[in-house]
Amino acid sequence: MINGKNLIGFTESAEGDKTFRTFNPKANLENEWQFYEASETEINRAASLASKAFTTYSKISAEKRATFLNSIADEILGLGDTLIEVYMKESGLPEGRAIGERGRTIGQLKMFAELIKTEMWRDSIIDAGNPGREPLPKPDLRQTAIPLGPIVVFGASNFPFAFSTAGGDTASAFAAGCPVIVKSHPMHAGTGEMISRAIVQAAKKTHMPEGVFSNLNSSGIEVGQKLVSHPLVKAVGFTGSLRGGRALYDLAAKRKEPIPVFAEMGSINPVVVTQKALENRGKDIATNYAKSVTLGAGQFCTNPGLILGVASDEMNNFVKELGSKAIEIEAQAMLHPNIYESFHDKATVVMQQQGADIVAEYSQEVNSNFSGAKIVTVSGKDFLENNQLHQEVFGPFSLVVQCSNKAELLQVIQNLEGQLTGTIIAEEEDYSKLEELISALQDRVGRIVFNGVPTGVEVSPAMTHGGPYPASTDSRFTAVGSGAIKRWVRPFSYQDFPKELLPDFLK
Ligand code: NAP
Repeated sequence: MINGKNLIGFTESAEGDKTFRTFNPKANLENEWQFYEASETEINRAASLASKAFTTYSKISAEKRATFLNSIADEILGLGDTLIEVYMKESGLPEGRAIGERGRTIGQLKMFAELIKTEMWRDSIIDAGNPGREPLPKPDLRQTAIPLGPIVVFGASNFPFAFSTAGGDTASAFAAGCPVIVKSHPMHAGTGEMISRAIVQAAKKTHMPEGVFSNLNSSGIEVGQKLVSHPLVKAVGFTGSLRGGRALYDLAAKRKEPIPVFAEMGSINPVVVTQKALENRGKDIATNYAKSVTLGAGQFCTNPGLILGVASDEMNNFVKELGSKAIEIEAQAMLHPNIYESFHDKATVVMQQQGADIVAEYSQEVNSNFSGAKIVTVSGKDFLENNQLHQEVFGPFSLVVQCSNKAELLQVIQNLEGQLTGTIIAEEEDYSKLEELISALQDRVGRIVFNGVPTGVEVSPAMTHGGPYPASTDSRFTAVGSGAIKRWVRPFSYQDFPKELLPDFLK
Protein backbone atom coordinates (compact mmCIF):
# COMPACT_ATOMS: atom_id res chain seq x y z
CA MET A 1 0.00 0.00 0.00
CA ILE A 2 2.69 2.54 1.01
CA ASN A 3 5.97 1.83 -0.81
CA GLY A 4 7.90 5.02 -0.05
CA LYS A 5 8.45 5.96 -3.68
CA ASN A 6 8.23 9.42 -5.15
CA LEU A 7 5.37 10.04 -7.57
CA ILE A 8 6.64 11.88 -10.59
CA GLY A 9 3.78 12.56 -12.95
CA PHE A 10 2.07 9.17 -13.27
CA THR A 11 5.21 7.14 -12.49
CA GLU A 12 6.61 5.83 -9.21
CA SER A 13 10.30 6.42 -8.74
CA ALA A 14 12.94 5.60 -6.11
CA GLU A 15 16.34 6.48 -7.57
CA GLY A 16 17.82 8.14 -4.50
CA ASP A 17 19.90 6.15 -2.02
CA LYS A 18 18.88 8.16 1.06
CA THR A 19 15.93 6.72 2.95
CA PHE A 20 13.99 7.68 6.06
CA ARG A 21 11.01 6.59 8.14
CA THR A 22 8.18 8.42 9.85
CA PHE A 23 7.58 8.20 13.59
CA ASN A 24 4.57 7.26 15.71
CA PRO A 25 4.81 9.73 18.62
CA LYS A 26 2.04 8.08 20.64
CA ALA A 27 3.64 4.64 20.54
CA ASN A 28 7.13 6.19 20.59
CA LEU A 29 8.43 4.04 17.74
CA GLU A 30 9.32 4.31 14.08
CA ASN A 31 6.66 3.40 11.54
CA GLU A 32 7.22 0.44 9.26
CA TRP A 33 7.42 2.26 5.92
CA GLN A 34 10.66 3.40 4.34
CA PHE A 35 10.70 6.49 2.11
CA TYR A 36 13.15 7.29 -0.69
CA GLU A 37 14.44 10.84 -0.76
CA ALA A 38 14.08 12.41 -4.23
CA SER A 39 17.29 12.70 -6.25
CA GLU A 40 18.33 15.66 -8.36
CA THR A 41 17.26 13.85 -11.57
CA GLU A 42 13.87 13.13 -10.07
CA ILE A 43 13.45 16.79 -9.06
CA ASN A 44 14.33 17.87 -12.61
CA ARG A 45 11.91 15.34 -14.08
CA ALA A 46 9.05 16.54 -11.88
CA ALA A 47 9.76 20.19 -12.78
CA SER A 48 10.01 19.52 -16.47
CA LEU A 49 6.81 17.44 -16.52
CA ALA A 50 5.02 20.19 -14.56
CA SER A 51 6.21 22.82 -17.01
CA LYS A 52 4.99 20.75 -19.99
CA ALA A 53 1.69 20.05 -18.25
CA PHE A 54 1.21 23.78 -17.65
CA THR A 55 0.87 24.53 -21.36
CA THR A 56 -2.21 22.29 -21.57
CA TYR A 57 -3.53 22.38 -17.99
CA SER A 58 -3.65 26.19 -17.92
CA LYS A 59 -5.99 26.09 -20.95
CA ILE A 60 -8.24 23.23 -19.84
CA SER A 61 -11.82 24.38 -19.31
CA ALA A 62 -12.93 25.43 -15.83
CA GLU A 63 -15.53 22.67 -15.91
CA LYS A 64 -12.86 20.02 -16.45
CA ARG A 65 -10.62 21.44 -13.73
CA ALA A 66 -13.63 21.38 -11.40
CA THR A 67 -14.25 17.72 -12.28
CA PHE A 68 -10.60 16.99 -11.45
CA LEU A 69 -10.92 18.70 -8.04
CA ASN A 70 -14.14 16.85 -7.21
CA SER A 71 -12.58 13.59 -8.31
CA ILE A 72 -9.61 14.15 -5.93
CA ALA A 73 -12.13 14.61 -3.11
CA ASP A 74 -13.86 11.33 -4.04
CA GLU A 75 -10.57 9.43 -4.31
CA ILE A 76 -9.47 10.67 -0.87
CA LEU A 77 -12.76 9.57 0.68
CA GLY A 78 -12.34 6.23 -1.10
CA LEU A 79 -9.13 5.61 0.87
CA GLY A 80 -11.41 5.06 3.86
CA ASP A 81 -10.21 4.08 7.30
CA THR A 82 -6.73 3.07 6.15
CA LEU A 83 -5.89 6.69 5.45
CA ILE A 84 -7.15 7.71 8.89
CA GLU A 85 -5.04 4.99 10.53
CA VAL A 86 -1.87 6.12 8.72
CA TYR A 87 -2.59 9.76 9.64
CA MET A 88 -2.91 8.78 13.30
CA LYS A 89 0.26 6.68 13.22
CA GLU A 90 2.26 9.56 11.73
CA SER A 91 0.91 12.43 13.83
CA GLY A 92 -0.32 11.02 17.15
CA LEU A 93 -3.50 13.05 16.59
CA PRO A 94 -6.80 11.40 17.57
CA GLU A 95 -9.32 9.82 15.18
CA GLY A 96 -11.92 12.59 15.59
CA ARG A 97 -9.40 15.21 14.53
CA ALA A 98 -8.28 13.09 11.55
CA ILE A 99 -11.85 12.65 10.33
CA GLY A 100 -12.65 16.32 10.89
CA GLU A 101 -9.55 17.44 9.02
CA ARG A 102 -10.30 15.09 6.14
CA GLY A 103 -13.79 16.62 5.93
CA ARG A 104 -12.29 20.10 5.83
CA THR A 105 -9.85 19.09 3.09
CA ILE A 106 -12.59 17.55 0.95
CA GLY A 107 -14.76 20.61 1.59
CA GLN A 108 -11.93 22.89 0.35
CA LEU A 109 -11.47 20.88 -2.86
CA LYS A 110 -15.21 21.04 -3.55
CA MET A 111 -15.36 24.75 -2.69
CA PHE A 112 -12.67 25.55 -5.28
CA ALA A 113 -14.42 23.31 -7.83
CA GLU A 114 -17.60 25.32 -7.28
CA LEU A 115 -15.76 28.65 -7.33
CA ILE A 116 -14.23 28.15 -10.78
CA LYS A 117 -17.45 26.92 -12.40
CA THR A 118 -18.19 30.55 -13.17
CA GLU A 119 -15.27 32.74 -14.21
CA MET A 120 -16.27 35.46 -11.71
CA TRP A 121 -13.27 34.71 -9.47
CA ARG A 122 -10.96 36.22 -12.09
CA ASP A 123 -12.50 39.69 -11.49
CA SER A 124 -12.16 40.40 -15.22
CA ILE A 125 -12.67 43.96 -16.44
CA ILE A 126 -13.91 44.88 -19.90
CA ASP A 127 -13.14 48.50 -20.82
CA ALA A 128 -14.62 48.88 -24.30
CA GLY A 129 -12.68 50.80 -26.91
CA ASN A 130 -13.77 53.98 -28.67
CA PRO A 131 -12.16 54.35 -32.09
CA GLY A 132 -13.75 57.80 -32.48
CA ARG A 133 -12.25 59.31 -29.31
CA GLU A 134 -10.34 62.58 -29.84
CA PRO A 135 -7.49 63.34 -29.93
CA LEU A 136 -6.58 59.60 -29.85
CA PRO A 137 -8.75 56.51 -30.27
CA LYS A 138 -9.35 54.60 -27.02
CA PRO A 139 -8.16 51.00 -27.18
CA ASP A 140 -10.40 48.08 -26.22
CA LEU A 141 -8.87 46.60 -23.04
CA ARG A 142 -9.92 43.40 -21.36
CA GLN A 143 -8.14 42.45 -18.19
CA THR A 144 -8.31 39.07 -16.54
CA ALA A 145 -6.24 36.79 -14.26
CA ILE A 146 -4.06 34.02 -15.69
CA PRO A 147 -2.17 31.24 -13.89
CA LEU A 148 1.51 31.67 -12.98
CA GLY A 149 2.92 28.23 -13.84
CA PRO A 150 4.16 25.26 -11.78
CA ILE A 151 3.81 25.77 -8.02
CA VAL A 152 5.80 24.05 -5.27
CA VAL A 153 3.83 23.32 -2.10
CA PHE A 154 5.35 22.73 1.36
CA GLY A 155 2.87 21.42 3.93
CA ALA A 156 3.06 21.78 7.71
CA SER A 157 3.54 19.06 10.29
CA ASN A 158 0.40 19.97 12.22
CA PHE A 159 -2.13 19.60 9.38
CA PRO A 160 -1.29 16.40 7.47
CA PHE A 161 -4.48 16.84 5.40
CA ALA A 162 -5.72 20.43 5.36
CA PHE A 163 -2.37 22.28 4.99
CA SER A 164 -0.44 19.57 3.17
CA THR A 165 -0.53 17.38 0.03
CA ALA A 166 -4.11 18.11 -1.09
CA GLY A 167 -4.63 21.04 1.28
CA GLY A 168 -5.65 24.60 0.53
CA ASP A 169 -2.48 25.53 -1.39
CA THR A 170 -2.71 22.57 -3.77
CA ALA A 171 -6.49 22.87 -4.23
CA SER A 172 -6.32 26.61 -4.97
CA ALA A 173 -3.34 26.20 -7.35
CA PHE A 174 -5.13 23.44 -9.30
CA ALA A 175 -8.25 25.61 -9.41
CA ALA A 176 -6.25 28.52 -10.84
CA GLY A 177 -4.78 26.29 -13.59
CA CYS A 178 -1.33 25.62 -12.09
CA PRO A 179 0.39 22.22 -11.84
CA VAL A 180 1.68 21.37 -8.35
CA ILE A 181 4.83 19.68 -7.07
CA VAL A 182 4.50 18.81 -3.39
CA LYS A 183 7.58 18.62 -1.17
CA SER A 184 6.14 16.00 1.12
CA HIS A 185 6.40 16.68 4.86
CA PRO A 186 8.89 14.18 6.34
CA MET A 187 6.78 13.67 9.47
CA HIS A 188 3.79 12.37 7.52
CA ALA A 189 5.24 11.05 4.28
CA GLY A 190 2.96 7.97 4.30
CA THR A 191 -0.20 10.06 4.62
CA GLY A 192 1.25 12.25 1.86
CA GLU A 193 1.90 9.25 -0.37
CA MET A 194 -1.66 7.94 0.00
CA ILE A 195 -3.15 11.35 -0.78
CA SER A 196 -0.75 11.71 -3.72
CA ARG A 197 -1.96 8.43 -5.19
CA ALA A 198 -5.52 9.70 -4.86
CA ILE A 199 -4.56 12.85 -6.78
CA VAL A 200 -2.80 10.86 -9.52
CA GLN A 201 -5.77 8.50 -9.78
CA ALA A 202 -8.11 11.47 -10.15
CA ALA A 203 -5.81 13.06 -12.75
CA LYS A 204 -5.83 9.86 -14.82
CA LYS A 205 -9.59 9.37 -14.53
CA THR A 206 -10.33 12.95 -15.57
CA HIS A 207 -7.71 13.00 -18.37
CA MET A 208 -5.43 15.64 -16.92
CA PRO A 209 -1.96 15.95 -18.46
CA GLU A 210 0.83 13.95 -16.85
CA GLY A 211 2.90 16.24 -14.61
CA VAL A 212 -0.09 18.19 -13.32
CA PHE A 213 0.99 16.72 -9.97
CA SER A 214 4.14 15.20 -8.45
CA ASN A 215 5.04 14.28 -4.89
CA LEU A 216 8.67 14.28 -3.76
CA ASN A 217 9.93 12.84 -0.49
CA SER A 218 12.71 14.27 1.61
CA SER A 219 13.80 14.30 5.22
CA GLY A 220 16.12 17.30 4.96
CA ILE A 221 16.02 20.76 3.47
CA GLU A 222 17.93 20.05 0.21
CA VAL A 223 15.04 18.83 -1.96
CA GLY A 224 12.91 21.83 -0.98
CA GLN A 225 15.76 24.22 -1.68
CA LYS A 226 16.42 22.70 -5.11
CA LEU A 227 12.74 22.92 -5.97
CA VAL A 228 12.50 26.59 -4.97
CA SER A 229 15.65 27.35 -6.98
CA HIS A 230 14.44 25.44 -10.05
CA PRO A 231 14.00 27.78 -13.04
CA LEU A 232 10.80 26.01 -14.18
CA VAL A 233 9.07 26.64 -10.83
CA LYS A 234 7.05 29.89 -10.81
CA ALA A 235 5.74 30.27 -7.23
CA VAL A 236 5.82 28.63 -3.81
CA GLY A 237 3.18 27.94 -1.17
CA PHE A 238 4.61 27.25 2.27
CA THR A 239 3.02 26.54 5.64
CA GLY A 240 5.38 26.06 8.55
CA SER A 241 7.89 27.75 10.78
CA LEU A 242 9.21 31.29 10.44
CA ARG A 243 12.73 29.91 10.05
CA GLY A 244 11.77 27.63 7.13
CA GLY A 245 9.48 30.13 5.43
CA ARG A 246 12.02 32.94 5.65
CA ALA A 247 14.86 30.74 4.33
CA LEU A 248 12.82 29.76 1.28
CA TYR A 249 11.63 33.33 0.73
CA ASP A 250 15.23 34.57 0.71
CA LEU A 251 16.27 31.75 -1.62
CA ALA A 252 13.49 32.61 -4.08
CA ALA A 253 14.48 36.29 -4.00
CA LYS A 254 18.08 35.42 -4.88
CA ARG A 255 17.13 33.46 -8.03
CA LYS A 256 18.03 34.93 -11.41
CA GLU A 257 14.25 35.16 -11.89
CA PRO A 258 12.84 35.85 -8.40
CA ILE A 259 9.46 34.23 -7.74
CA PRO A 260 6.75 34.84 -5.12
CA VAL A 261 6.80 32.73 -1.95
CA PHE A 262 3.51 32.76 -0.08
CA ALA A 263 4.66 31.58 3.32
CA GLU A 264 2.16 31.26 6.17
CA MET A 265 4.15 30.99 9.34
CA GLY A 266 3.86 30.92 13.09
CA SER A 267 2.06 33.48 15.21
CA ILE A 268 1.42 34.17 18.90
CA ASN A 269 -2.08 35.59 18.37
CA PRO A 270 -2.54 38.29 21.04
CA VAL A 271 -5.76 38.19 23.06
CA VAL A 272 -6.81 41.34 24.93
CA VAL A 273 -9.13 40.95 27.92
CA THR A 274 -10.79 44.07 29.35
CA GLN A 275 -11.18 44.74 33.06
CA LYS A 276 -14.99 44.66 32.75
CA ALA A 277 -14.88 41.25 31.07
CA LEU A 278 -12.64 39.93 33.84
CA GLU A 279 -14.97 41.33 36.51
CA ASN A 280 -18.11 39.84 34.92
CA ARG A 281 -16.86 36.48 33.65
CA GLY A 282 -13.17 35.99 34.47
CA LYS A 283 -13.68 32.34 35.44
CA ASP A 284 -15.52 31.45 32.23
CA ILE A 285 -12.90 33.15 30.11
CA ALA A 286 -10.16 31.23 31.97
CA THR A 287 -11.97 27.91 31.39
CA ASN A 288 -12.45 28.64 27.67
CA TYR A 289 -8.88 29.74 27.22
CA ALA A 290 -7.47 26.74 29.09
CA LYS A 291 -9.21 24.61 26.42
CA SER A 292 -8.05 26.78 23.53
CA VAL A 293 -4.39 26.85 24.69
CA THR A 294 -4.29 23.04 25.01
CA LEU A 295 -6.40 22.16 21.94
CA GLY A 296 -4.44 19.73 19.76
CA ALA A 297 -1.59 19.97 22.32
CA GLY A 298 -1.38 23.66 21.41
CA GLN A 299 -0.08 22.80 17.95
CA PHE A 300 -2.04 25.40 15.99
CA CYS A 301 -0.76 28.47 14.20
CA THR A 302 -3.71 30.31 15.79
CA ASN A 303 -2.95 29.13 19.33
CA PRO A 304 -3.49 31.95 21.86
CA GLY A 305 0.16 32.29 22.85
CA LEU A 306 -0.17 35.79 24.32
CA ILE A 307 -2.89 37.11 26.62
CA LEU A 308 -2.86 40.80 27.50
CA GLY A 309 -4.65 42.85 30.14
CA VAL A 310 -4.16 45.61 32.69
CA ALA A 311 -2.92 44.39 36.09
CA SER A 312 -5.63 44.21 38.78
CA ASP A 313 -6.93 41.77 41.41
CA GLU A 314 -9.30 40.36 38.81
CA MET A 315 -6.43 39.89 36.35
CA ASN A 316 -4.45 38.13 39.04
CA ASN A 317 -7.37 35.78 39.78
CA PHE A 318 -7.85 35.15 36.07
CA VAL A 319 -4.19 34.16 35.58
CA LYS A 320 -4.37 31.71 38.49
CA GLU A 321 -7.65 30.24 37.26
CA LEU A 322 -6.29 29.90 33.71
CA GLY A 323 -3.21 28.09 35.06
CA SER A 324 -5.13 25.69 37.26
CA LYS A 325 -7.74 24.89 34.56
CA ALA A 326 -5.06 24.41 31.90
CA ILE A 327 -3.09 21.86 33.91
CA GLU A 328 -6.27 19.94 34.73
CA ILE A 329 -6.43 19.07 31.03
CA GLU A 330 -4.67 15.79 30.31
CA ALA A 331 -1.32 15.81 28.53
CA GLN A 332 -1.51 14.86 24.83
CA ALA A 333 0.95 13.38 22.36
CA MET A 334 2.84 15.99 20.36
CA LEU A 335 3.40 15.45 16.65
CA HIS A 336 6.99 14.25 16.78
CA PRO A 337 9.84 13.95 19.29
CA ASN A 338 11.52 16.95 17.58
CA ILE A 339 8.43 19.10 18.12
CA TYR A 340 8.15 17.86 21.70
CA GLU A 341 11.78 18.83 22.38
CA SER A 342 11.48 22.16 20.64
CA PHE A 343 8.35 22.94 22.73
CA HIS A 344 10.18 22.29 26.00
CA ASP A 345 13.32 24.17 24.90
CA LYS A 346 11.40 27.24 23.74
CA ALA A 347 9.12 27.27 26.81
CA THR A 348 12.23 27.02 29.04
CA VAL A 349 13.82 29.99 27.30
CA VAL A 350 10.72 32.10 28.03
CA MET A 351 10.49 30.87 31.63
CA GLN A 352 14.12 31.85 32.24
CA GLN A 353 13.69 35.44 31.11
CA GLN A 354 13.86 38.37 33.51
CA GLY A 355 10.52 38.83 35.30
CA ALA A 356 8.87 35.67 33.95
CA ASP A 357 6.74 33.89 36.59
CA ILE A 358 5.61 30.34 36.06
CA VAL A 359 1.88 30.30 36.92
CA ALA A 360 1.27 26.61 36.29
CA GLU A 361 3.13 23.73 34.70
CA TYR A 362 1.66 20.28 34.05
CA SER A 363 3.71 17.96 36.22
CA GLN A 364 2.02 14.55 36.15
CA GLU A 365 3.99 11.63 34.85
CA VAL A 366 3.43 11.24 31.11
CA ASN A 367 4.42 8.96 28.24
CA SER A 368 7.25 9.98 25.92
CA ASN A 369 6.32 12.86 23.59
CA PHE A 370 3.24 13.83 25.65
CA SER A 371 2.92 17.39 26.96
CA GLY A 372 0.54 19.24 29.22
CA ALA A 373 0.14 23.00 29.58
CA LYS A 374 2.56 25.65 30.77
CA ILE A 375 1.23 29.12 31.69
CA VAL A 376 3.66 31.95 32.39
CA THR A 377 3.10 35.60 33.30
CA VAL A 378 5.24 38.71 32.95
CA SER A 379 4.81 42.48 33.31
CA GLY A 380 4.21 44.75 30.33
CA LYS A 381 7.51 46.49 30.99
CA ASP A 382 9.53 43.26 30.88
CA PHE A 383 7.71 42.14 27.75
CA LEU A 384 8.43 45.43 25.99
CA GLU A 385 12.12 45.25 26.82
CA ASN A 386 12.70 41.64 25.81
CA ASN A 387 12.16 40.24 22.32
CA GLN A 388 12.80 36.68 23.51
CA LEU A 389 9.33 36.83 25.06
CA HIS A 390 7.70 37.50 21.66
CA GLN A 391 8.71 34.17 20.07
CA GLU A 392 6.19 31.46 19.17
CA VAL A 393 6.32 28.51 21.59
CA PHE A 394 4.63 25.84 19.43
CA GLY A 395 2.68 23.74 21.93
CA PRO A 396 0.30 24.07 24.92
CA PHE A 397 1.77 27.33 26.17
CA SER A 398 0.55 30.85 26.82
CA LEU A 399 2.22 33.95 28.20
CA VAL A 400 -0.01 36.39 30.11
CA VAL A 401 1.28 39.96 30.01
CA GLN A 402 0.03 42.21 32.81
CA CYS A 403 0.39 45.84 31.76
CA SER A 404 0.48 48.74 34.20
CA ASN A 405 -2.19 50.70 32.29
CA LYS A 406 -4.02 50.98 28.97
CA ALA A 407 -1.26 53.09 27.40
CA GLU A 408 1.30 50.37 28.10
CA LEU A 409 -1.06 47.73 26.73
CA LEU A 410 -1.37 49.68 23.48
CA GLN A 411 2.39 50.04 23.36
CA VAL A 412 2.79 46.27 23.73
CA ILE A 413 0.46 45.73 20.77
CA GLN A 414 2.21 48.37 18.66
CA ASN A 415 5.53 46.62 19.33
CA LEU A 416 4.33 43.17 18.33
CA GLU A 417 5.49 41.47 15.16
CA GLY A 418 2.78 40.76 12.56
CA GLN A 419 0.19 38.16 13.60
CA LEU A 420 -2.45 35.95 12.00
CA THR A 421 -5.10 36.91 14.56
CA GLY A 422 -5.88 39.24 17.42
CA THR A 423 -8.77 38.72 19.85
CA ILE A 424 -10.76 41.15 21.98
CA ILE A 425 -12.69 39.91 24.99
CA ALA A 426 -14.93 42.77 26.08
CA GLU A 427 -18.35 43.71 27.48
CA GLU A 428 -20.92 45.96 25.86
CA GLU A 429 -20.00 48.76 28.30
CA ASP A 430 -16.48 48.70 26.81
CA TYR A 431 -17.53 49.22 23.19
CA SER A 432 -17.28 53.02 23.21
CA LYS A 433 -13.68 52.79 24.47
CA LEU A 434 -12.35 50.17 22.06
CA GLU A 435 -11.47 52.33 19.05
CA GLU A 436 -7.76 52.74 19.84
CA LEU A 437 -7.39 49.07 20.70
CA ILE A 438 -9.08 47.91 17.48
CA SER A 439 -6.95 50.28 15.46
CA ALA A 440 -3.68 49.13 17.13
CA LEU A 441 -4.58 45.46 16.62
CA GLN A 442 -5.76 46.02 13.05
CA ASP A 443 -2.31 47.35 12.24
CA ARG A 444 -0.65 44.12 13.48
CA VAL A 445 -3.00 41.27 12.53
CA GLY A 446 -4.92 39.71 9.63
CA ARG A 447 -8.16 39.02 11.54
CA ILE A 448 -9.70 40.23 14.82
CA VAL A 449 -11.90 37.77 16.70
CA PHE A 450 -14.47 39.34 19.04
CA ASN A 451 -15.40 37.51 22.26
CA GLY A 452 -14.17 34.16 21.03
CA VAL A 453 -11.01 32.10 20.73
CA PRO A 454 -8.56 32.33 17.82
CA THR A 455 -8.25 28.57 17.30
CA GLY A 456 -10.51 27.36 14.49
CA VAL A 457 -10.23 28.91 11.03
CA GLU A 458 -13.49 28.85 9.04
CA VAL A 459 -13.11 28.11 5.32
CA SER A 460 -15.10 31.04 3.96
CA PRO A 461 -14.94 33.55 1.10
CA ALA A 462 -14.64 36.24 3.79
CA MET A 463 -11.75 34.60 5.70
CA THR A 464 -8.35 36.28 5.99
CA HIS A 465 -5.77 33.78 7.11
CA GLY A 466 -2.53 35.71 6.77
CA GLY A 467 -1.25 38.96 8.18
CA PRO A 468 1.69 41.35 8.33
CA TYR A 469 5.16 39.74 8.33
CA PRO A 470 6.15 37.41 9.95
CA ALA A 471 2.66 35.89 10.08
CA SER A 472 2.97 35.69 6.31
CA THR A 473 5.38 36.91 3.66
CA ASP A 474 2.64 38.80 1.81
CA SER A 475 -0.13 40.36 3.89
CA ARG A 476 -2.20 41.14 0.78
CA PHE A 477 -3.35 37.54 0.48
CA THR A 478 -5.13 34.81 2.42
CA ALA A 479 -4.15 31.13 2.59
CA VAL A 480 -7.63 29.96 3.64
CA GLY A 481 -10.93 30.54 1.86
CA SER A 482 -11.69 31.12 -1.79
CA GLY A 483 -9.44 34.21 -1.93
CA ALA A 484 -6.43 31.85 -1.67
CA ILE A 485 -6.69 31.30 -5.45
CA LYS A 486 -5.49 34.89 -6.03
CA ARG A 487 -1.95 33.93 -5.01
CA TRP A 488 -1.46 31.80 -8.13
CA VAL A 489 -2.55 34.22 -10.85
CA ARG A 490 -1.29 37.43 -12.39
CA PRO A 491 -3.22 40.22 -14.11
CA PHE A 492 -3.14 40.11 -17.89
CA SER A 493 -4.66 42.44 -20.48
CA TYR A 494 -5.82 41.82 -24.05
CA GLN A 495 -5.71 45.01 -26.10
CA ASP A 496 -7.79 45.39 -29.31
CA PHE A 497 -8.14 41.61 -29.65
CA PRO A 498 -10.48 40.16 -32.27
CA LYS A 499 -13.45 38.47 -30.53
CA GLU A 500 -12.61 35.06 -32.03
CA LEU A 501 -9.22 35.08 -30.29
CA LEU A 502 -10.48 36.06 -26.83
CA PRO A 503 -11.27 33.48 -24.14
CA ASP A 504 -15.05 32.87 -24.05
CA PHE A 505 -15.52 34.64 -20.72
CA LEU A 506 -14.06 37.88 -22.15
CA LYS A 507 -16.01 37.93 -25.42
P1 NAP B 1 8.74 23.54 9.38
O1 NAP B 1 9.72 22.84 10.21
O2 NAP B 1 9.06 24.92 8.92
O3 NAP B 1 8.46 22.59 8.11
C1 NAP B 1 7.60 22.91 7.04
C2 NAP B 1 8.19 22.35 5.75
O4 NAP B 1 9.24 23.20 5.32
C3 NAP B 1 8.80 20.98 5.87
O5 NAP B 1 8.54 20.27 4.67
C4 NAP B 1 10.27 21.27 6.03
O6 NAP B 1 11.06 20.22 5.53
C5 NAP B 1 10.45 22.48 5.14
N1 NAP B 1 11.57 23.33 5.55
C6 NAP B 1 11.76 23.88 6.78
N2 NAP B 1 12.87 24.64 6.78
C7 NAP B 1 13.37 24.59 5.52
C8 NAP B 1 14.49 25.19 4.88
N3 NAP B 1 15.33 25.99 5.54
N4 NAP B 1 14.71 24.90 3.57
C9 NAP B 1 13.88 24.08 2.91
N5 NAP B 1 12.81 23.49 3.46
C10 NAP B 1 12.55 23.75 4.74
O7 NAP B 1 7.32 23.68 10.12
P2 NAP B 1 6.47 22.53 10.84
O8 NAP B 1 7.14 22.14 12.11
O9 NAP B 1 6.13 21.50 9.88
O10 NAP B 1 5.11 23.28 11.22
C11 NAP B 1 4.89 23.96 12.43
C12 NAP B 1 4.90 25.46 12.21
O11 NAP B 1 3.96 25.80 11.20
C13 NAP B 1 4.48 26.27 13.42
O12 NAP B 1 5.32 27.39 13.53
C14 NAP B 1 3.06 26.72 13.08
O13 NAP B 1 2.64 27.89 13.73
C15 NAP B 1 3.17 26.89 11.60
N6 NAP B 1 1.87 26.81 10.93
C16 NAP B 1 1.37 27.91 10.29
C17 NAP B 1 0.13 27.85 9.69
C18 NAP B 1 -0.44 29.06 8.99
O14 NAP B 1 -1.43 28.91 8.30
N7 NAP B 1 0.11 30.23 9.15
C19 NAP B 1 -0.60 26.65 9.70
C20 NAP B 1 -0.05 25.55 10.34
C21 NAP B 1 1.19 25.65 10.95
P3 NAP B 1 12.09 19.46 6.48
O15 NAP B 1 11.31 19.10 7.71
O16 NAP B 1 12.50 18.32 5.65
O17 NAP B 1 13.17 20.44 6.77
